[in-house]
This record gives sequence, C-alpha cells and structure tokens, in this order.
Amino acid sequence: MSLQSKAALVTGSTSGIGLGIARALAGEGAAVMLNGFGDPAQIEKLRSGMASEFGVRVGYAAADMAQPSEIAAAVRRTADELGSLDILVNNAGIQFTAAIEDFPDERWDAVIAINLSAVFHGMKAAIPFMKRKGWGRIVNIASAHGLVASPQKVAYVAAKHGVVGMTKVAAIELANSGVTANAICPGWVRTPLVEKQLHDRAAAQGRALEGVTEDLLAEKQPMRQFSTPDQIGALAVFLCSDAAATITGAPLSIDGGWLAQ
Ligand code: NAD
Repeated sequence: MSLQSKAALVTGSTSGIGLGIARALAGEGAAVMLNGFGDPAQIEKLRSGMASEFGVRVGYAAADMAQPSEIAAAVRRTADELGSLDILVNNAGIQFTAAIEDFPDERWDAVIAINLSAVFHGMKAAIPFMKRKGWGRIVNIASAHGLVASPQKVAYVAAKHGVVGMTKVAAIELANSGVTANAICPGWVRTPLVEKQLHDRAAAQGRALEGVTEDLLAEKQPMRQFSTPDQIGALAVFLCSDAAATITGAPLSIDGGWLAQ
C-alpha cells in the first residue's frame, strides 16, 4: 500500500481507463475523487462500492471538463473533502472522426476543450497544492496519437500532441519542487470510446464486429491485443511511486509496439 496518505483526482473516471486508474490508486490506499458523466445512481454505486472494496475514502465531483471554472472547483473540492490533492490524473477525453474538410467546428472545439485545455486548467489549479506540500504527481493520459498521427482524427491528434508538449513544460517548471509530470501514451484499449469506433466501422463496412476488431489492431499494433484499463492503472501507480521520483516529462508508451514501427 504505497499511496496510503495520498489523495488523487482522476478526471473521466466513471468509465474505461480512468476507472482502471482510480481503482489501481485506491488499491494502493489512496483516497480518490471520481469525476465523469453517467447515471447518478450508477455513479453512487461505483463510488460506494470502491470505498468498501478498498477501504479508502472515495468522492465524486461532477465537473464538466469543458468548463474551466468547474475543473478548478473539482481540484479544490478534492483538497477540501479528501484533505489534500497529491495526484492529478488528467484522463477525461472524447473522440470524433472525420476528414479535415468535413470536420465540424463545434466538434473541433469540444475535443480541444476536453482533451487539451482541461489538462492545462487541471494542472494550473492543482500545482499550488502540490508545491505547498513539496510532493505531487501529474499523470496526463495522452495517446499513441500524442506521438504519431492517423487520418480522420485531426482534433484528437492535435490535442494529444499538445498534451505531450504541455507535460514537458510542467516537468521543467516543476523539476525541483518534488512534483513530477508524465504522459501515458496508450495504444488500443477496449473501452466504450473504442467500442463506438468499432461499431461505426462495422456498420460502415457491413461487416461483423470480430473481423473489424482484428483489422483495427492489425493496422497499428504489432502486438494484436488490447491493453487493459488495469494495465494503464498499474503504470499510473508506478509513476506515483518513489521508484519513479526522477521520471518526469516523459511520454510513456503502452501500446503493443505501435510506436516501434
Ligand atoms: P471512455 O469513453 O471509456 O471514458 C471517458 C471518460 O471521460 C468517461 O468517464 C466520461 O464520462 C468522461 N468524460 C467525457 N467527457 C467529459 C467531460 N466533458 N467532463 C468530464 N468527464 C468527461 O474513454 P477511454 O477510452 O477510457 O478514454 C480515457 C482517456 O484515454 C481519453 O483521454 C482517451 O483519449 C485516452 N486514450 C484511450 C485509448 C483507447 O484505446 N481507449 C487509447 C489512448 C488514449
């Protein structure tokens, strides 16, 4: 239990990777503030279930990551309710696919707000708490698309490259403050975000989901299997450990060899 005295805010943790990270941090004894959309009754079940499963305090902040003032409020609420804000995991994200000339302006704005600007607003609000304690961990969930591009994903690729860049700036600014900032760059993880892409492709191609899934992996990943939210959670826990105290400003790939090509 390496994180027993720590409190973490994990954005977008009602589903997928964020939930995997929140569970992994709670499993190491951290108090956790959940965030994300969903049915209120389901979220409350998730919150209370995690609290009793791991024996830690678990809260929920219903902030919309597209709203800077709500992000700052979620950070303050974590510190107020859980006693501190030691770990910030900027994970909330959305996807939209279309060619540049067809990409709706409104979707561009939404992806940039949630996948890019929210990371800035979260770090801006959290860093003073971390500096005061002389300890902190910022874990930004970027993507393989923070390092290389794919067609049809202009806003997502721009946002994720921006997250990797922003993480490096934070790492340099915070280098001697006890606070590290790193970016995790997953390849394919089978979450609702990817499930939607799979179903869209299957519908567009008139094919069965299984074949479309095999093709999706084969296109990008030498290792033709998904990473799991638990595996991303374990990497986040490692980045929060003392062993990782001098890892900062790094984009860390967990992508089945995607970036090795
Ligand atoms: P997901 O759709 O399963 O989960 C996204 C979470 O973000 C949900 O909890 C959702 O409620 C929340 N969210 C969405 N918009 C929000 C908003 N405006 N305010 C607050 N919360 C909001 O997706 P996921 O696959 O788990 O993705 C999590 C992160 O991982 C994203 O940043 C995504 O870009 C990144 N990522 C995913 C993959 C993958 O293959 N799944 C790969 C690389 C990177």
